[in-house]
Amino acid sequence: MARRMYVVGNWKMHGLSVDLAEIEAIAAQARAYPAVDTALCVPAILIERAARTVPNFTIGAQDVHFAEKGAHTGCVSAAMIEDAGAHLTIVGHSERREGQRETDEEVRSKAEAALTAGLSVILCVGERLEVREAGAAVPTVSAQLEASLPRGEGVARGVPNKFAIAYEPIWAIGTGKVASTQDIAEMHSAIRERLRASYGDAAEKVRILYGGSVNAENAAEIFAVEDVDGALVGGASLSADKFIPIVRAAFDASR
Ligand code: PEP
Repeated sequence: MARRMYVVGNWKMHGLSVDLAEIEAIAAQARAYPAVDTALCVPAILIERAARTVPNFTIGAQDVHFAEKGAHTGCVSAAMIEDAGAHLTIVGHSERREGQRETDEEVRSKAEAALTAGLSVILCVGERLEVREAGAAVPTVSAQLEASLPRGEGVARGVPNKFAIAYEPIWAIGTGKVASTQDIAEMHSAIRERLRASYGDAAEKVRILYGGSVNAENAAEIFAVEDVDGALVGGASLSADKFIPIVRAAFDASR
């Protein structure tokens, strides 16, 4: 089935007030490609200012806590980021799974909390280099996905329209290395199968993004791969000059 292309920038720990002008430029230029859903996930503290600066553009967060509220010093809840103006959040990015030791169970709880609060979710999965080299990438990512997928009837009902997966091989993030188109096709097909097992026909609506050193030069080739519905972009999302050509490639791929 036809799914709208989705291109999402992950600004990681980049972005000060001065960078709101760049967000404005990205939002303005993205309007030329209406067939593509484009969004930027910015640091939590920038969400409110970014959302006020570009009210017709989707601003997201990079993480949420799984609890509704409580004694979790330094954390932000799904309701808080929604209140600040975000419409989506990333959960389970490998930099959090590795750096903050987030488990699949925590990632699952975060996805459930965000969907329950009405946010869209991009759930990240991906393998380490040694796993890829040992030939175990597909079973490893399938198991990680299975353990991280949001459950519960109410949540599952919201899944088709508000839920996306990002396949991001850890060794490809910020390294300039990109998975081969064959490896991407194989992994995205396995992810689709896993989604069907959990959500039945609704799985066809879930978008599967690729992430890992996507840029203006390689985007078209990646978007031509079966079951690639867009990209999660780190470094190349920090400026309109680098990000908009990726949005344009997604637009061209969707025609
Ligand atoms: C990411 O942060 O999710 C990412 C894919 O980063 P980069 O595009 O820089 O590899």
